[in-house]
Amino acid sequence: MTAAARGKRGRRFGQTIFYDWCKACGICIAFCPQQVFRANDQGKPLAARPEKCTGCGFCEIHCPDFAITIVECPELRRKEKSCDHDSLEGS
Ligand code: SF4
Ligand code: SF4
Repeated sequence: MTAAARGKRGRRFGQTIFYDWCKACGICIAFCPQQVFRANDQGKPLAARPEKCTGCGFCEIHCPDFAITIVECPELRRKEKSCDHDSLEGS
């Protein structure tokens, strides 16, 4: 799944989720200030509103399993296309 996003001043961010590491605690879903994530059928995060991500890093910092990485996608700022930073599907 590609999760591309546009933050403040046109900056865009990708949310990479390592599903094999995620234990579905829901912290990232509950506390993202932009409500970027919703839970999938396993309770793990899906980036439902990636364009709202500001790159604040809250999810990355507070995930107890280091299962989220936020990466700025400068290529998106220029080309306005999909981000290459994919979430990693797993269990
Ligand atoms: S970096 Fe901030 S805005 Fe983006 S998904 Fe994580 S908590 Fe939400
Ligand atoms: S905070 Fe980390 S472990 Fe918890 S649901 Fe989000 S990605 Fe999974």
